[in-house]
Amino acid sequence: MIPFVDLRAAHAEVAEEVAQGFDRVLQDTAFVQGPDVAAFEQEYAEFSEVPHCVGVGNGTDAIELSLRAAGLEPGSGAVLPANTFVATAEAVVRAGLRPVLADCDDDHLLLDPAAAEAAVTPDVAAVLPVHLYGQQAPMAAVQDLAARHGLTVVEDAAQSQGSRQEGRPPIGLASTSFYPGKNLGAYGEAGAVLTSSAELATALRLLTNHGSRQKYQHETLGFNSRLDTLQAVVLRAKLKRLARWNELRRAAAERYDKLLSGVQGVRLPRVAPGNLHVWHLYVIRVPQRDKVLAGLHAAGVQAQIHYPYPVHLTPAFHDLGYAPGDFPIAEKAATEILSLPMHPHLTPSQQERVAETLDKVLSSL
Ligand SMILES: *Cc1c(COP(=O)(O)O)cnc(C)c1O
Repeated sequence: MIPFVDLRAAHAEVAEEVAQGFDRVLQDTAFVQGPDVAAFEQEYAEFSEVPHCVGVGNGTDAIELSLRAAGLEPGSGAVLPANTFVATAEAVVRAGLRPVLADCDDDHLLLDPAAAEAAVTPDVAAVLPVHLYGQQAPMAAVQDLAARHGLTVVEDAAQSQGSRQEGRPPIGLASTSFYPGKNLGAYGEAGAVLTSSAELATALRLLTNHGSRQKYQHETLGFNSRLDTLQAVVLRAKLKRLARWNELRRAAAERYDKLLSGVQGVRLPRVAPGNLHVWHLYVIRVPQRDKVLAGLHAAGVQAQIHYPYPVHLTPAFHDLGYAPGDFPIAEKAATEILSLPMHPHLTPSQQERVAETLDKVLSSL
């Protein structure tokens, strides 16, 4: 059996440090907003080379609270790619805004700036590029379109911890998730927002903590969405390994590229120019995808699909009024994409077995 991720192997590397950290928190009973939270925020801001990091309860809240902190007109539109995890669209609705979908580009499955621009109407106030699979959407083009139309940019960086892009503009607001399976994963729910703006960081802190800076002084209507202290302990320990883990993912991706280059029918993932990819997911495209997936599972290879339905073909978003055919690239990709096992502890021999199995399954179609 070749697992899709191996959270146990990752835990083994940090187990001692996490146990000691948990002990410290339990001794101090600093369960909410303990010193590890502020320490992690500072460390993650440094790692990301962004001035401010505000911890929140999870990645979906990180998107919602970013949009709220930006103070957008209620009911305005927010452009996002049709091919994303449903949370991007969910957070837009929860922030009191209207999801406006746009198609992705066929090479990288990242938000297509031209499609995003075509979707902009006078009531659109925000754009949410999603750094899908671990590489950044084309930020210079997104920032340019945002500047021309006066849009707030909220990056969905849930899958791109540690990624970089040459020549990209500074981060206004970027939300991330520390869901256990992400490149930097907690042991429960956690998330954060990165921003270059001290003002937005302050606004976010208020929102996450009942609208309050000082106990019982509630300046605005807020939420309870704070980064848990025990999760901050886990994240601090894992953050020290993240650069190396991302390197291991890159090495594994290169190895897959080589192993699969001769396999008939496989379309390999591509890195957009200027991007440093962190390979949250290694997503190939194949014909008769569901049959291929079944064949891999039968042979013990735990492949997955990210994601089987674009947002507009998801029942929860039918009322947006889109129809099949509206986003042809995203729709076609949804029938072809296949995420192969990818994590820092994947071994070369496991990858060889994945490639051999895939070859066998594809040639038997
Ligand atoms: C994981 C993820 C989220 C949501 O994060 P949670 O912490 O699960 O709420 C949002 N967007 C994308 C692209 C994700 O992968």
